[in-house]
Amino acid sequence: MSNHLSDRINSLPVSATLAMAAKARELKNQGNDIIGLSLGEPDFNTPEFIKEAAIQAVHDNYNSYTPVDGYPELKDAICSKFKRDNGLDYSPSQIVVSTGAKQSIANAVQVLINPGDEVLLPAPYWVSYSAIAILAEGVPVEIPSSIDTDFKISPEQLAAAITPKTKMVIFNSPNNPSGSVYTEAEYRALAKVLEKHPDIYVLSDEIYEHINYGVGNFSFAAIESMYDRTITVNGVAKAFAMTGWRIGYIGAPEWIAKACTKMQGQITSGANCIAQRATIAALEAPVSNIQYMIDEFESRREMVLELLGDIKGFRLNQPKGAFYVFPDISAFFGKTLQGVTIKNASDFALFLLEKAHVATVTGEAFGSPNCIRISYAASVENLQEAIKRITKAVA
Ligand code: GLU
Repeated sequence: MSNHLSDRINSLPVSATLAMAAKARELKNQGNDIIGLSLGEPDFNTPEFIKEAAIQAVHDNYNSYTPVDGYPELKDAICSKFKRDNGLDYSPSQIVVSTGAKQSIANAVQVLINPGDEVLLPAPYWVSYSAIAILAEGVPVEIPSSIDTDFKISPEQLAAAITPKTKMVIFNSPNNPSGSVYTEAEYRALAKVLEKHPDIYVLSDEIYEHINYGVGNFSFAAIESMYDRTITVNGVAKAFAMTGWRIGYIGAPEWIAKACTKMQGQITSGANCIAQRATIAALEAPVSNIQYMIDEFESRREMVLELLGDIKGFRLNQPKGAFYVFPDISAFFGKTLQGVTIKNASDFALFLLEKAHVATVTGEAFGSPNCIRISYAASVENLQEAIKRITKAVA
């Protein structure tokens, strides 16, 4: 019956990150000793003070529909967070709370993109941006980068990619999958290009903002000329180990926020009530409360870079944020390993899954076909064992 499905869903690729995680889970359930490094998900538990706030919300009978755009107290907390962490002035009418940052992004793209509008994606980019653009009948346009430029694009590249059909550019810093972080100066240089094109909107995905290693995070909307056309996306999943709670939010020009509210009013009615109350506690707490997780990610990054750096054929940059390494493994293309010919990054990721029992994600899904993504949001023990297996498999 799948030919009865809409063209829309038939043309949509499956999320590569979620697909790999599902495959790893399936193999594990069949009794295989798989180490899953495919999913970007902190391996910590949600901090106690956040869990307590959720439990209290249940006892306080927070069980009804919430305002579509989120509880007023949560929107106030988000405004304060934007001021405290990002130097951004948003009023509550500019805030929309959604079911994860993924929905925040989908809302913004749905309300701004018309069929045929081009969405610029500096590559590597997170897998779902292109799918979300396609769902809105937009056209994703990749702007390539490589390990030689620390996986960042230049203002010249941005200028060259712009056409009369360009409607949006999606920036993501710290970046998933490369871990690269744009500096304020780099962002200002890109903004200079956009200043000449007043009809282009910017979606700035800052979901990894707190997970950066001493370099800080600069918000694109903090550039005065960009504030009125930037949608700042954030959420609690990564920094607060709350991936399953599904709370994301935007700060945006009021007319865009209103449109996003209208959109989710027809699709979800708003985000989960208990998770919203828990998010108030998360955002009102000092950032120092979650520093232990960031410190731990940083020490794992050091270890992973050192161990992977010893493998011949792996080229690495030093990620400044998020919890991924994104080695260029193109040195293996055309080689035969344990009888398997590696033609591309997908072959390599599959090889690692089958021969080393380590799940990673092919860079092709992120628009960077020379790389694979390895998440180090996993225990030190699992990371060491995984890299030992990878080393052996490619030797
Ligand atoms: N954002 C995470 C990742 O890239 C979670 C999975 C997803 O939603 O794609 O692994």
